[in-house]
Amino acid sequence: EETEPVEEVRPQSPVKPMTATEVKVNVSIPEAAERAAATGADGVGLLRMEHMILSLNQTPAKFIEENGEDAYVQELVQGIRHVADEFYPRPVRTRTLDAPTDEFRQLEGGEDEPKEHNPMLGYRGIRRSLDRPDVFAHELEAFRRLYEMGYDNVEMMFPLVNDAEDVYRVKQLMQEAGIDPDKRKWGVMIETPASALAVEEMAQTGIDFASFGTNDLTQYTLAVDRNNENVADRFDELHPSVLRLIGDVIETCREHDVATSICGQAGSKPEMVQFLVNEGVSSISANIDAVRDVQHEVKRVEQKLLLESVR
Ligand code: PEP
Ligand code: MG
Repeated sequence: EETEPVEEVRPQSPVKPMTATEVKVNVSIPEAAERAAATGADGVGLLRMEHMILSLNQTPAKFIEENGEDAYVQELVQGIRHVADEFYPRPVRTRTLDAPTDEFRQLEGGEDEPKEHNPMLGYRGIRRSLDRPDVFAHELEAFRRLYEMGYDNVEMMFPLVNDAEDVYRVKQLMQEAGIDPDKRKWGVMIETPASALAVEEMAQTGIDFASFGTNDLTQYTLAVDRNNENVADRFDELHPSVLRLIGDVIETCREHDVATSICGQAGSKPEMVQFLVNEGVSSISANIDAVRDVQHEVKRVEQKLLLESVR
């Protein structure tokens, strides 16, 4: 019999601490759902749809050409459903497709993908989805089917938006897909400086949450390519300019009753956890192996804040 590794993350304190700040978990592939759920996390802060798609080894267009639209939608439904089942009724924040063109190019059918000089600044995330609403519609249809099946714990998250205009266009497409945005939980990622600076307007679009994608927010704020080893030592998620953007967004969102969250890698770092809890973030999503430590760090910072407030 193999032992479950999750239990060994922090054997000296197996009890999950109660915290006001929710601690969630990032799930990169549906197969990790069981392990992720066993951490006792308050939900999934980021479930990436692109791995369900990239694992088909074909571009969506190619897969659909060979198998039909319904089979494609069903692939997405099955992937999300597996995670939603493991976590129910805990929420599962599911992000629509966000893979850069260089990753699509490696798939069968990828030869038609545009060749981009800098894919990270290119045709990805919501830009691609809004440019091809016919393809995006399949992802929305997967959400619609899940809601119809009763998976009310599924939340929709949209990557790489820049402004309220992007968000209103997404909202329109949700409605066209038969999803009532007022009845469902949905939100955006804050991962460009533009989106951080536009959060006041975005907070009035009807979003329930804004989640920091610090991998991208850091690369775009500092102009440091996250995949370029020559500048890797300059990639600093705790850079004062990144933190200033994050702090301002949390404050604005609080004024508008919009929840805030982090789903970038930095959510697993104690320094970032300290900063975010002090700023009043609503939830933190960490990697599976970091959840337990983050839970305890959140608890520690919250207790310190509480003591400071009564002294
Ligand atoms: C991020 O940018 O921090 C993020 C979570 O998204 P991805 O790493 O998939 O770009
Ligand atoms: Mg990102």
